[in-house]
Order: sequence, then C-alpha cells, then structure tokens
Amino acid sequence: MQFTPDENGCCHSIVDHWQPIIERNLKGLKKRFSGISIKFIKNSSLIKHRFCRKILLETIKNPQDQLSIFREYSNKKILDSPLQYAGAVCYKCQRTHGKTVVVGKNTVRWECQECGAIKEGDVSKFDYWWHHKPMFLARLEIFKIDIALSGGDHFSEGDFDIRRVLIKKYSPKTKEPKMLFTPTVIALDGQKMSKSKNILLLLILEILLRHQTIANKKNFI
Ligand SMILES: [Zn+2]
Ligand SMILES: [Zn+2]
Repeated sequence: MQFTPDENGCCHSIVDHWQPIIERNLKGLKKRFSGISIKFIKNSSLIKHRFCRKILLETIKNPQDQLSIFREYSNKKILDSPLQYAGAVCYKCQRTHGKTVVVGKNTVRWECQECGAIKEGDVSKFDYWWHHKPMFLARLEIFKIDIALSGGDHFSEGDFDIRRVLIKKYSPKTKEPKMLFTPTVIALDGQKMSKSKNILLLLILEILLRHQTIANKKNFI
C-alpha cells in the first residue's frame, strides 16, 4: 500500500492520503465513546518483532505447507503455481516481480526481474508483500488480540478455521481471538463492495452513527 500512488495525486501514496482522513473521522467517535483509544499500526512496522520475522521467513521458505492448509479449509479454488505467499518489494523499483529466497538463518536474497537489482541482507532490511492469512498470525501473537473484526469475504474463504489451524501449527501458545465477521455488503448494481476493487461508497461517520441510534430503537431495516 505504501507504494501505491495516491489516485488524487496530492500525496506520496494512498496511505498518506487516507490515514489523516480516517483519523479525522475517528475523532468524532472518541467524542461519543470517550473510553476508547485508537492507534494506527502499519504492517510494515511488524518486521521489528522477532515473531513476525520468523513467520515471514517460514512463509517464504515453505509455501507448500500453507497451501495444504488453505486447500483443506477453504472451499475456494487455489492455484498450484505460482506458489508464493510472501516476497520482497524491490528496493530500487518498488516492484514485486522477482525471486525472494531465504539463504541463511535470517538472510534474504532478492533478485528483481523488472530492473535487475540484486541484494542480499538481513530479513529486516527489506519491505515485503505478504498474504494476509500468515500475516494475521503474526499480528495475533504480537498484539495479543482479544477480538478480531473482519469482512464476511474472509469468512467465506475459510479464515475462521484457517486462523485456528495456523495457530496450532506454527504458534500453539498464541491466544485464539474471538472472531466477528461483518456481513458482505452488496452495492446497488449487485457487485460486492470492495475497497481493493475500488467499489466503495463514502459515508459520513455522523450519518452512520445516526442510523445506529435508529437501529437501537428497532426501526431500522
Ligand atoms: Zn493525497
Ligand atoms: Zn527492481
């Protein structure tokens, strides 16, 4: 995300564009629920945690193990190749088309197939893309999460079971969170709402909260 250009053209990336807007809106929530505190954590900062580095290296080294779990617990079609659930982002051209190999205990080698850059170094010295399922395990262990909220599309991909199996296999002491899956929302044209496909509708938080108050009075359909 940090390398995705801002579609409005005013900021370095979409993260820089949207984070302050989201933060501003959430301030309204704080006014209403004074006991809550909100902290933004970027996935790119997880690499400083030893557990994250361990699971990331495991994901790069043995994708086959994760494929078997996804295949058993997801009823979605899963491709055999290319079989890769994590990789480096090129330090030169910011592309991900290339080869990421674990060559030592904590050493990663990157070969870019776009710009030809080659670099070998400590795992923490690169940026990465990482499939959300193994990355979620790292987040669970690092933040000791009590309740996880996810979209219904994750539920239909089998994430409820997959998360439990990943914990059991890679990190049995990690606390299993309670999981709350929100319903899948269908847009007016029948398509599934999706922020990654840019099928979205921006709502003002105050309007949403007003609906929630009405819903509490059981008048909201
Ligand atoms: Zn911007
Ligand atoms: Zn490159």
